[in-house]
Amino acid sequence: MWLEMSRDASHGGDGWGFAECLWSPSHKNPSGRWPFWELLLSVRKGDIVVHLRGKGSRAAFVGHSVADADGYETSERPSVPGQWSYASSFYRVPLSAFVPLVEPIALGDVLRATRDELRTYFDRNRELPRRTREHVFFVFQAGRLQCLNGAYLSELSTSLAGIVLGRTTEMAPRGTPNANPAARTGEQVRQLLARVGQGVFSDNVRANYGHHCCFPDCPVSEDALLVGAHIARWADAPQLRGSTANGLCLCLMHDRAFESGWFTLGLDGAILINEARIGTSPWGAANLKRYAGLRVRPGEIPPAPDALRQHWRRVGTGGDAVRDLPAPPPNSPNG
Ligand SMILES: [Zn+2]
Repeated sequence: MWLEMSRDASHGGDGWGFAECLWSPSHKNPSGRWPFWELLLSVRKGDIVVHLRGKGSRAAFVGHSVADADGYETSERPSVPGQWSYASSFYRVPLSAFVPLVEPIALGDVLRATRDELRTYFDRNRELPRRTREHVFFVFQAGRLQCLNGAYLSELSTSLAGIVLGRTTEMAPRGTPNANPAARTGEQVRQLLARVGQGVFSDNVRANYGHHCCFPDCPVSEDALLVGAHIARWADAPQLRGSTANGLCLCLMHDRAFESGWFTLGLDGAILINEARIGTSPWGAANLKRYAGLRVRPGEIPPAPDALRQHWRRVGTGGDAVRDLPAPPPNSPNG
């Protein structure tokens, strides 16, 4: 996740405009590297970019978009390069799917509300070896918190986003989504943070299983065909939210079969088949039934028993184990 700080409205002109792309010169005049520009080359397709726009006290978070491709260097030029016209090449990241916030969130409000947390974050970051330090958008100078001059693009880790944007969801009143602009903005930010959280969850789960579908004998190890699947649904197990132990790395087919309850896992990781759900499916017969009782490839972190019990309850499988489950509370959607 990244944060763009842009000041002027033109941004770069046609095709290089605000929310159309990120761009910067590739070097300082006359020469020299600038880390907050070099970062453009680290942006990957699918990364989320949060946009902060405006000068000084008018600066505000105005929306977010998605990187449409990896960052690259180009000799193409923005039509309005402004003070960067000296440059012979530029860094560029095309963007798409811009979502404007219903109500921009004033940077000044955020900084005032999160000053102490940012101070802690800043100090911890500065203690790291230089190489691994994050390039963040703010700085404390003589005890004063301010935006770092020239930090055009900065890193927005999940925890930093949680501080900066998470507080805005507290500031915004909760309520029905249409209640008022501030509530709608709060809801937009909550959804954005949830999306980021799910991305982190999926990365962690796939890494936990070595980026390989954990179903026995399944050959799929291409990230594009793998998901970090939830065992218990988020709504069913709030205490497991974001936990790697609530995930399995599965290929798209096995994910779908697991989600549909065609199979589940015992506490020992053994495949438990639900014949009724598989029905007469030839795929299920060929790819699931004959693996009954075999164990999935283990990850570093095993599935949480609570998560598996939730899955058994939801899909009505789990062999003998399912009979030992406490009855779901009355009115439970799973009852
Ligand atoms: Zn698979």
